[in-house]
Amino acid sequence: MRKKFIAGNWKMYTSSITAEMLASSVVKLLGDETRLQVAVCPPFPFLARVASVVKGTAVALGAQNCYPKDEGAFTGEVSPTMLLDVGCQYVILGHSERRQKMAETDAFINEKVHAALKAGLKVILCIGETLDERKANRTEAVLDTQLVGSLAKIAAEQLKNITIAYEPVWAIGTGVNATPQQAQDAHAFVRQRVGGLCGAESAKELIIQYGGSVKPDNAATLLGQADVDGALVGGASLKAEDFLAIVRAGIC
Ligand code: PEP
Repeated sequence: MRKKFIAGNWKMYTSSITAEMLASSVVKLLGDETRLQVAVCPPFPFLARVASVVKGTAVALGAQNCYPKDEGAFTGEVSPTMLLDVGCQYVILGHSERRQKMAETDAFINEKVHAALKAGLKVILCIGETLDERKANRTEAVLDTQLVGSLAKIAAEQLKNITIAYEPVWAIGTGVNATPQQAQDAHAFVRQRVGGLCGAESAKELIIQYGGSVKPDNAATLLGQADVDGALVGGASLKAEDFLAIVRAGIC
């Protein structure tokens, strides 16, 4: 039985004060709920502060990126071991904003996936097609390329520490979410394709989140789909009440 997993991607929002307040509200509203997994992913500078708020609670901490080396002359970068040191359990990798704005390739993302897992972090790996790719009926081909590239040399037993976030690029931050059927079709394809790459048994247990304009009013139908095991939430994760309404929609 897959446990639903809802994660909040705070992107480049909040300040030290508002990050702490937001994390405190999420902790308070979530209470000791354990029927699903919940994580918040603040910007790097606020990780330590949020770590002290969520420590010992039902809320896990994640970062939004990392560099695929333990240490070294990589000015401005942050290593997986540093994230672990500061209290992170998760790291988001391959977000479409990084793929598009920082020109991250599947090969580079694959290096990060290996480095993060080696350090002991769990990975939320984002994949998704653009609107043009969907219109050209290339959704599955694009997802296939991203999965093959970013999961290269990942073994079946490593899959338990990987969550895939299917995030159609056209749905991120636009207010236009995928229909529940579009999400289900893509998730079923991802599960089947990951099964082919890493083994069908481990793919059955794979958590696949949907991301792209998830809001309190559309969460229940999206999360009600058979292969939708959670959500990666951007904008709506910046309001504790909205984020918790999405979390509650995931409790069956
Ligand atoms: C995201 O940033 O991963 C995301 C899904 O954003 P939004 O929920 O705002 O579309």
